[in-house]
Amino acid sequence: MSVVLPASLTVRDPRINLLDLDRAGLEDFFVGMGEKRFRAHQVMKWIYHRLIDDFAQMSDLGRGLREALEQAACVHPPGIRLAQQSTDGTNKWLLGIDGTQGVETVYIPEPTRGTLCVSSQVGCSLTCKFCATGYMDRERNLDAAEIYDQVVAIKTQAEQAYGAPLSNIVYMGMGEPLLNYANVLESVERITSPDGLGMSPKRITVSTAGIAKQIKKLGDDGVKFNLALSLHAADDAKRNQIMPINESNTLAALKTIGPTGCGQPTTATMPCTEAAIRPMAASQSDKNAGRSSRSSGG
Ligand code: SF4
Repeated sequence: MSVVLPASLTVRDPRINLLDLDRAGLEDFFVGMGEKRFRAHQVMKWIYHRLIDDFAQMSDLGRGLREALEQAACVHPPGIRLAQQSTDGTNKWLLGIDGTQGVETVYIPEPTRGTLCVSSQVGCSLTCKFCATGYMDRERNLDAAEIYDQVVAIKTQAEQAYGAPLSNIVYMGMGEPLLNYANVLESVERITSPDGLGMSPKRITVSTAGIAKQIKKLGDDGVKFNLALSLHAADDAKRNQIMPINESNTLAALKTIGPTGCGQPTTATMPCTEAAIRPMAASQSDKNAGRSSRSSGG
């Protein structure tokens, strides 16, 4: 099934999008309006805990402030350009980013959990042979807000559609997360923050094609989320053929980091989007790349 939503959903709003601001940025925003810093906390609770994007409903803000916010700001998650659903219930969305670019986000429903697979880059530089994203140029890294906003954009409708809370997040969509290290970690911070979605880091998994130096850095930084290593092949000869990154990050090099290199055990895995999307029709980015329906998977 393919649903194209109205173009109006992708029109850019000239007002400042509060979803683009972290807590410090939101506090500065309110100070700039002549308000106290604690307004940031109030508004974040409305946006991220109660999922309210209408300032008029934020009843603990004065009427004057609500009207001023309406003039100066908005709460706009990324617009949905395309929605597809596979026969197994998996949903894929093409989300508009920055007015002109798009990234894919996938929701995978299961009996005991719902997993959202998010993108970390527009395109990818790693050119894995089995991946349509690998045939696209890496346009740019997503910033932390753009990664976080994918979750905000999909969370409500996925929970309504499936009647169950979003329970897990995997960074396994378009792009190699560890080549966008700082923004990925900042987005995890926002997802796990009490001011954000308050999810446990144990329910978040970052998937990498295998960047040894950055895996080591995760360990040095003491991160609390899970790490998955997408192997795709069990020996260097085969892996070199399908994943060029293996030439500079061999299995031997990755083994030296192994399960103790990061705060959580490393799991060798297959990308969720590859497995999940295979039954679905070709996505927009696949069509752009002129490739198969397998689209991404870090
Ligand atoms: S599999 Fe992941 S790392 Fe490899 S090209 Fe695709 S998105 Fe990039």
